[in-house]
Amino acid sequence: MKIYNTLTRKKEEFVPIEEGKVSMYVCGPTVYNLIHIGNARPMIVFDTVRRYMEYVGYEVRYVSNFTDVDDKIIKAANEEGVTADEIAQRYIKECKKDMKALNVREATKHPLATEEIEGMIEMISTLIEKGYAYNANGTVYFRTRKFEDYGKLSKKNIDDLEAGHRDIKVAGEEDKEDYLDFVLWKPKKEGEPYWESPWSEGRPGWHIECSVMSKKYLGDEIDIHAGGEDLIFPHHENEIAQSEAANGVPFSRYWMHNGFLNIDNKKMSKSLGNFFTVRDISEKYDLQVLRFFMLSAHYRSPINFSAELMEAAKNGLERIVTAVDNLKHLADKLPEREPDDKEKEDLKLVEGLVEKFKKSMEDDFNTADAIAAIFELVKFANINVRETSSKQFAIAVRDTIVTLSDVLGIITEKEQEMLEDEIEKLIEERQAARKEKNFARADEIRALLLEKGIILEDTREGVKWKRA
Ligand code: AMP
Ligand code: ZN
Repeated sequence: MKIYNTLTRKKEEFVPIEEGKVSMYVCGPTVYNLIHIGNARPMIVFDTVRRYMEYVGYEVRYVSNFTDVDDKIIKAANEEGVTADEIAQRYIKECKKDMKALNVREATKHPLATEEIEGMIEMISTLIEKGYAYNANGTVYFRTRKFEDYGKLSKKNIDDLEAGHRDIKVAGEEDKEDYLDFVLWKPKKEGEPYWESPWSEGRPGWHIECSVMSKKYLGDEIDIHAGGEDLIFPHHENEIAQSEAANGVPFSRYWMHNGFLNIDNKKMSKSLGNFFTVRDISEKYDLQVLRFFMLSAHYRSPINFSAELMEAAKNGLERIVTAVDNLKHLADKLPEREPDDKEKEDLKLVEGLVEKFKKSMEDDFNTADAIAAIFELVKFANINVRETSSKQFAIAVRDTIVTLSDVLGIITEKEQEMLEDEIEKLIEERQAARKEKNFARADEIRALLLEKGIILEDTREGVKWKRA
């Protein structure tokens, strides 16, 4: 399996630290708002990397954080007149809902920055002891020049960085020894959340959070560290400096970065105001379509969001879902018998397409080509599985399409009808709600059932239901 490593700017053969195991850290969102579809790109892309790794037999430990303390969160809290914690909790919950709808699997661990402060204080103390950091009136800075490899990920030359900014002093950072030094710990301002530390009542800088959470949940040295390409500098460069200076071993073997999701060829971002939230898109499309759209481009290429491409993704996805559905109905009717010789030959062609899918994925996760292999399978199925085929043959073809789609996180099976038991239970709950005069809940249940195609009728003999 080949992975493009930002550290070496080359596609390299993937060799894990421990055979059969992968440790992977993906920088997660700052939670002060609903996530936009640009934020969803790394989630979908790296979830797919994880799924593929598992498909070929690796045991993957996948860690992705939520940055739940930050200037933007504090600002949002002040604007609403609530606590920063309330804002963070709310948007973590909303983000998890979006992730579920995008079929992004839960990480092995989703650490929260605010729950890891102790580890951050520990790492900052180590950096001070080793001379890589210093306290200036309650603010702790990383001594960038002391870390000799600084710039190795972003390929920036430290003297060029310095030259561009020789005369600029940022307000509040007058105590820095060097312009290049960055914050590890900063004192609180009035009304801000804070933690006790040896240096001041304050909070951690953003970069130290990821170094610490990655170390705690995956160890000093990990296989893959990932995020959007805007994180290469300074975030990931600084993470490398902190982790390697503190731990004395290389931080991550492979660095993976996804390209931007653009609109009119400009990066989609909250600050530019040119964004759609995942929630906006969910009003018009099943979010599977958004996932399929993202995977139809290579993860390192920029991808331009447009209505036409979303429509194309919708049609493409429908072709797969319909083929799977047709195969299921056909298989139900077909006779059980061993595949005949022609079918056995055909199954070899199917195997060939599975190999094509794998080859694409092994080449730095070329999901666009992997999807093309699935389309070939669909075409094959539409032509070769017929009324005269065996059930076994139809099922084998169908299962192959379902399995490969699942590796990409694409759900191909049409939504199951609601079971009678579930319906009866909800009706009982509605009756109980009505008894308690909780009409809001009763209406909610009626609406929920309607959404699933179940119509309720209140009759003298009680509640009756039918499928729409
Ligand atoms: P943030 O909340 O801004 O730290 O972003 C969370 C993740 O989303 C990071 O990995 C970013 O690199 C990524 N990201 C933000 N905007 C985009 C975009 N327009 N396209 C692709 N990735 C993005
Ligand atoms: Zn990070």
